[in-house]
Amino acid sequence: MAQEMGEELGPSEILQRCLQNEKIKMSNTKKTLRLVLGDQLNSQHSWYQKVDANTTYLLMEIRSETDYALHHVQKVLGFFAAMRTFAEHLQTQGHQVIYIKLNDAHNLQSFNKNCEALIAQHGFTHFEYQLPDEYRLDELLKIFTGQLNITHTVYDTEHFYSERTELKDLFAGKKLLLMETFYRHMRKKHRVLIEGDNQPLHGQWNFDADNRQKLPKAHQPIAPLLFDNDLSAIENELKIAGIKTIGHVKSEHFLWPVDRQQSLLLLDFFCNNCLSLFGTFQDAMAPHQWSLYHSRLSFAMNTKLISPKEVVDKAIAAYAQNPDGIAYHQLEGFVRQIIGWREYMRGIYWLKMPNYASLNFFEHTAELPQWYWTGNTKMNCMKDAIRQSLDYAYAHHIQRLMVTGNFALLAGVHPDAVDAWYLGIYIDAIEWVELPNTRGMSQFADGGIVGTKPYVSSATYINKMSGYCTGCYYDKAKKTGEKACPFNSLYWNFYDQHESKLAKNPRIGMMYNVWHRMAPADKTALLEQAEYYLKNINEL
Ligand code: FAD
Ligand code: SF4
Repeated sequence: MAQEMGEELGPSEILQRCLQNEKIKMSNTKKTLRLVLGDQLNSQHSWYQKVDANTTYLLMEIRSETDYALHHVQKVLGFFAAMRTFAEHLQTQGHQVIYIKLNDAHNLQSFNKNCEALIAQHGFTHFEYQLPDEYRLDELLKIFTGQLNITHTVYDTEHFYSERTELKDLFAGKKLLLMETFYRHMRKKHRVLIEGDNQPLHGQWNFDADNRQKLPKAHQPIAPLLFDNDLSAIENELKIAGIKTIGHVKSEHFLWPVDRQQSLLLLDFFCNNCLSLFGTFQDAMAPHQWSLYHSRLSFAMNTKLISPKEVVDKAIAAYAQNPDGIAYHQLEGFVRQIIGWREYMRGIYWLKMPNYASLNFFEHTAELPQWYWTGNTKMNCMKDAIRQSLDYAYAHHIQRLMVTGNFALLAGVHPDAVDAWYLGIYIDAIEWVELPNTRGMSQFADGGIVGTKPYVSSATYINKMSGYCTGCYYDKAKKTGEKACPFNSLYWNFYDQHESKLAKNPRIGMMYNVWHRMAPADKTALLEQAEYYLKNINEL
């Protein structure tokens, strides 16, 4: 303005004016800090579609995350490796990235403290984050942003098929939250395996009856695709930091996918080699066969390296290209797990939290047997499922549900202890999916929100679906006496203990008819056997 009026300025005054203008310009520039959580590694997110010099992405390895549960070492390694490769990927795309490593001197070891320090240090004027999938972090970030003296924006993760509240809205006013109803809604809404006017492809919604066979004796399942990631440097950093973990790295190198490319390779491998038998052997268990025809995609999906839609679309495309090699029931069985169970569990979590995390319908109080941490038990099924969990940070669904979960429920273990174990030991364990599966489906601690009856069984089911009983120290056929399979007496003991809570359940009534018709002496012997096993549970 002064210049416009013909004012003469010297060089130092011109410099002064320039600096002033620059300052005004800078104070008008929005400088954004975007927080990326360890399970938000979605490179396809709209955030990353354009590079902006005024936007900085922040990823951090912090003690609050390594220490909130006793995690399997492979889980911590997997998350940190995936976060590091993701940060590198963003940098190569031209994005500004701040990555705080676990042992960095300036790491304040908490989301809030690190964000606050960076906002002050770099003069960020705006803060952004994506909706966390965990209630704990959702609350933390709500409180944090509520106290910030800069503006903030929250984004969707653009990962799931459904909204957080979709299940709640679908079942508004209804008592039963049936997965099957939700699954059909999702199929119709997203036109997945649908033809014509919202009709299921091939005339049926559910092909479960064609699935779920035992593995034939001579059958040799396909060897799994394993990656060869050298994570020894991160492993060393965990040691230096003194992070307590369980399990070990089975082979010299880390076998889980740690980036998007490896995740897509695993998806290809599954579609080309496993999908054709996925449904058939979905519930099968075999000693020393840790992955059978399962996809092992849960870690890649739960960290959002790949999306459920990519997985479903790829599986459908594989079926379309090879309908003679992949029967439709195999595909439907797989799609149901992802569009159905995975999204359903998320909906239950957001509908029922935070109360869900403390439900204990049966009022169970027992401790988890010590051998859950070592696999040192004479029970073949438990030994195999636990040892492979320690070796690979993985067990497939039926091992989790009908072996380790089944036993914990029959043994009356407190759901908090069961949750802590599942949350720690599996590479894919994040609370939003672990909790409804463990406390709900497996332990029935929600009194029947997720499942219509408790998933318990005697040795009969385990023997039907596995090869574990052959060669076990215990006798699957014996209910009482020496070497009687513990599942048998614990099973009847469970029903006896909880009759007041279960007898009216229409899906269970038949079991009570059998129990009531049993000779009193046989019932007493079963209950005494169970009592003996429960008293000596660490010796089993
Ligand atoms: P596949 O058998 O190949 O199935 C394909 C995909 O379907 C999985 O990757 C998964 O994303 C999805 N899926 C299948 N069943 C379920 C289910 N019940 N709930 C949600 N998604 C499902 N899954 C987790 O991702 N994290 C957990 O912490 C977890 N904890 C569990 C605890 C218990 C007690 C039980 C019974 C199940 C748990 N599950 C959990 C569900 C299921 O066991 C795993 O998703 C599955 O074993 C992962 O292996 P996969 O990728 O080879 O699955
Ligand atoms: Fe498990 Fe019992 Fe079979 Fe042994 S006999 S493998 S303990 S079910």
